[in-house]
Amino acid sequence: MKILIATHNKNKIAELQRILLPLGIELVTDRDLGIELTDVEETGSTFTENSFIKSESGCKESGLPCIADDSGLAVDYLNGAPGVFSARYAGEHGNDEMNIDKLLDELKDVPDDKRTARFVCAATCVFPDGKRIAVNGTCEGAIAHERKGNGGFGYDPIFEVNGKTFGETSAEEKDALSHRGKAFRLLAEELEKII
Ligand code: IMP
Repeated sequence: MKILIATHNKNKIAELQRILLPLGIELVTDRDLGIELTDVEETGSTFTENSFIKSESGCKESGLPCIADDSGLAVDYLNGAPGVFSARYAGEHGNDEMNIDKLLDELKDVPDDKRTARFVCAATCVFPDGKRIAVNGTCEGAIAHERKGNGGFGYDPIFEVNGKTFGETSAEEKDALSHRGKAFRLLAEELEKII
């Protein structure tokens, strides 16, 4: 069975393909199909809404079942921010480094026990017959006082789990713990029930 994935992020595609291959699911991108999906605006107020915006649009434009994911960081002291604004926390033209600087600044004098946070990933799949799947994966951690390690991307250098940041964690170890890994494994379980 062929399922379209609405991303060009090679790491996400490879990670999900590893999980779905045993189910006989072949993941394809719009480029594999010779089409180009519309770059839809993520106007939702939750990760799940934004994920569905992408998977619904991809399904409609391709005629294939379509998977999408949306993720971000929720910091308790900031009432869940940066949340759905994680990628553009320091502004539309911000980048990972500026986003981290802004977050560290906002938590400057906040003690360890108030620095709790979680990564959240909402993965969805929409089928041409209207069937819809939505799952969530979360990864609990805390925001470090400074950057540690240079692996990963985004907020990885300041997100600590079990005493080390995701910037200091191998890709395999992160897959096993991460919000995305959990969401993708749950999605595979749901897909297995349907196909
Ligand atoms: P996306 O929805 O997966 O593109 O993620 C949106 C934003 O959330 C990214 O630009 C990152 O800032 C942040 N983010 C999501 N997942 C991770 C992660 O695993 N590590 C670090 N940052 C992440």
